[in-house]
Amino acid sequence: PPDKDELGRSTWTLLHSIAATYPTAPTSNEQSEIKAFMGLFAKLYPCWFCADDFQRYMKKETVRAASRDEFGNWLCNAHNEVNKKLGKPIFDCAKWEERWRTGWKD
Ligand code: FAD
Repeated sequence: PPDKDELGRSTWTLLHSIAATYPTAPTSNEQSEIKAFMGLFAKLYPCWFCADDFQRYMKKETVRAASRDEFGNWLCNAHNEVNKKLGKPIFDCAKWEERWRTGWKD
């Protein structure tokens, strides 16, 4: 089985990629779906202590998904919460879309 770092990297890739393709103007149904998905994700994530902490975080900071921008930033902040816990650098959320959707401009 993947170790928790490999699992984490793959999972963040999936989650940020979902944010990158989330509609800019989601319907209320699409907003309900992403919230339900994140709720179940946090429950089923197969690193149990990670999942416990992430569920606690999601209770405090409920999913915001009224637009791609809003969901992308919510997810970026959630990822930063884990970065902080692990002593990793905080990612600049102004750049999440460049990292995960449009590609770096350089
Ligand atoms: P990762 O954190 O996996 O990030 C991958 C890439 O995403 C980075 O290289 C960077 O380009 C980009 N990135 C970084 N930060 C952001 C951001 N804020 N927004 C957008 N893009 C960003 N590990 C534990 O040891 N303990 C835990 O409790 C734990 N909880 C986790 C909870 C969840 C929900 C997930 C998905 C993972 C969790 N992990 C946990 C794994 C951990 O977050 C990392 O995935 C793992 O440590 C590997 O880190 P990494 O340095 O390769 O980069």
